[in-house]
Amino acid sequence: MGTTIFDIGAEGRTGLRLPPCDIPERNLTELVPAELIRKEDPKLPQVSQIEVVRHYTRLSRMNYGVDNGIYPLGSCTMKYNPRINEDMARLAGFAYAHPLQGEELSQGALRLMYELGEYLCAIGGMDAITLQPAAGAHGELTGMLIIKKHFERAKELHKRTKILLPDSAHGTNPASAAMCGFEIVPIPSDSRGLVDLQSLKAHLDESVAGIMLTNPNTLGLFETDILEITKLIHDVGGLVYYDGANLNAIVGRARPGDMGVDIVHYNLHKTFSTPHGGGGPGAGPVAVIKKLEPYLPVPRIIKRKNSYALDYDRPHSIGKIHSFYGNFGVLVRAYTYIRMMGDEGLKAVSTNAVLNANYLRARLSRVYKAPYDRLCMHEFVLTTKGMSEEIRTLDVAKRLIDYGVHPSSIYFPLIVPEVMMIEPTETVSKEELDRFADALIKVAQEMKENPQILKEAPHAVPIYGASVRRLDEVRAAKEPILRG
Ligand SMILES: *Cc1c(COP(=O)(O)O)cnc(C)c1O
Repeated sequence: MGTTIFDIGAEGRTGLRLPPCDIPERNLTELVPAELIRKEDPKLPQVSQIEVVRHYTRLSRMNYGVDNGIYPLGSCTMKYNPRINEDMARLAGFAYAHPLQGEELSQGALRLMYELGEYLCAIGGMDAITLQPAAGAHGELTGMLIIKKHFERAKELHKRTKILLPDSAHGTNPASAAMCGFEIVPIPSDSRGLVDLQSLKAHLDESVAGIMLTNPNTLGLFETDILEITKLIHDVGGLVYYDGANLNAIVGRARPGDMGVDIVHYNLHKTFSTPHGGGGPGAGPVAVIKKLEPYLPVPRIIKRKNSYALDYDRPHSIGKIHSFYGNFGVLVRAYTYIRMMGDEGLKAVSTNAVLNANYLRARLSRVYKAPYDRLCMHEFVLTTKGMSEEIRTLDVAKRLIDYGVHPSSIYFPLIVPEVMMIEPTETVSKEELDRFADALIKVAQEMKENPQILKEAPHAVPIYGASVRRLDEVRAAKEPILRG
């Protein structure tokens, strides 16, 4: 533990042999201005090949990822990423395409993006799309800019100042709306865990620019009043933004467009199985209904008779939201995934994601408390509140690491105290679900019999569990020591 590449090796050791130099040697001072020449040796690691290989292999074993086992982070949809997606993204024609090589030489890439857009529109029941945003949050920002532009053109922006936001919303929602200058109006959840209709109605007037709605919401519950909600918002002239991060629960079965939604973002790195974690890259395409199409970012990818082209001539566009066309490699992976799955495959995704979540919920709600104990969608929440005087959900999550499984999301959504938010996804087998449930049930027993073991978890068990003991998380984030 604690060994960096700078701590190993020895003076003069090297991992490769260069061929003899076949050009005349020149003195550095002849080539580089004196003030740019480093005075001191950069102290690079001096290591043999096998030392490098062993060092990075050891580091990779300290990591835990989707390829190791269940990764049930609620709201994150950490599903398996089929290897064929990677193979396609690595095809030379895609991997080495240059964004400035011109339309003529980019027909394959343009076609792929055009067709991906068509598929996503069909899946969402929407009319037009941009693939540019690099993440869900970036899609939200794009959507809010579109709402702003819409009211600017309607000369109503001065009075359309509010965005309504259910209190279960992901933190990026209020941030995106606030960045566009809107005032955030929180709408409480009712005892069902759904948008409280009475409170919503109390806020409806011509100051409402729109609502940002996540469905199913972050409690894993389907907003059963969605048709009424979208109608109420439209009746006062507002627009409905749909946070599609939870599309895995409904893909192939229900469409935001049919729920009366005006704008929706998709998280390709969640629902459409492109690797994510550690900050990206991702993709958060935004689809809109026909009347909002003029505001989409430029360039739009259009289909001509026998070719595809980029259209910059969009006077009402909100402009560019990403360099070039977005994170193209992610788009190739999502396209491959959709083509490989097909209609039936995508339907099976949501079916099995919901089945897996309900299986875990049924097993675990006998031991932990389920604040909303009824059928869930692709995820559900549990709480440890009231189970122990001294043990918190954080301790439960840390103890799970000792059992070799990744903990769920914790302390989100904010409206449930001491919450665990569990999303197994469809790519987890029944055995793996049981392994996770068994571990959580064991930890609940330990909570009563040996709480100290939870408080000190994880207990650095190399290979099997963690490679370090419990960290001071704030200090680890604020004072990271990344090299020796
Ligand atoms: C993940 C998520 C987001 C943000 O998406 P990113 O791609 O991480 O920016 C927004 N809303 C919900 C409900 C999410 O789960």
